[in-house]
Amino acid sequence: MAKKQFAVIGMGRFGSSIANALSNLGFEVLAIDTNEQKIQEISASVTHAVSADTTDEDTLRALGIRNFDVVVVAIGADIQSSILTTLILKDLGVPRLIVKAQNELHGKVLSKIGADKVIFPERDMGLRVAHHLISPNILDFIELSDDYSIIEMRAPLQTIGKNLKQLDIRAKYKCNVLAIKTDNHMNISPYAEDIIKDNDILVIVGKNEDLKNFEIVYAEG
Ligand code: ATP
Repeated sequence: MAKKQFAVIGMGRFGSSIANALSNLGFEVLAIDTNEQKIQEISASVTHAVSADTTDEDTLRALGIRNFDVVVVAIGADIQSSILTTLILKDLGVPRLIVKAQNELHGKVLSKIGADKVIFPERDMGLRVAHHLISPNILDFIELSDDYSIIEMRAPLQTIGKNLKQLDIRAKYKCNVLAIKTDNHMNISPYAEDIIKDNDILVIVGKNEDLKNFEIVYAEG
């Protein structure tokens, strides 16, 4: 199967970091920005780098943008350009369109006009940092929907040496332990008798408010 081809529009911190990461992973990346200097800076790291204004339909057509499997729109401050670009890309039939939003309203508009995924990097990173501050044991936080999330948590002291049955996390906190990571091994759907060891990482799913209660109880561990 041919490797996916990506186009990234907007070489701010977010866009250029995506373009670099995809390129380092071995994917073909087309980087686009109106700013000539930004294009020069990224050109050595990606397959193609083009200085162009993506609010111009003909330009996007000429770049063959619809042949890319995924297009990421990482235009930030200029919300109008971000919306126009998204609208044109959608019209041109790009298979998968991922767009960075500045705020909730911008995000709503992007979803309405057909962005396949809207991302809020600052908000999401803020959430992660906040969870890490509540409990340094929290390693990662993934929002599944407005109500549900997954957390990755270093096994708190109080849980070590106990099994899931003893901890009774589901009944007490209405959260489910999806997996236990031990060294490099991932124990998916662990059994009630599986014992949690020092340095294990718990992957837990639940409603945000239930996860919050769980985090607070185990914050000190
Ligand atoms: P970050 O936080 O990721 O650094 P930002 O939110 O500050 O980004 P901007 O710097 O406003 O975002 O925009 C990102 C890039 O998008 C800029 O380099 C800008 O030149 C580029 N850009 C803006 N409008 C267009 C456009 N119409 N076509 C192509 N690139 C554009």
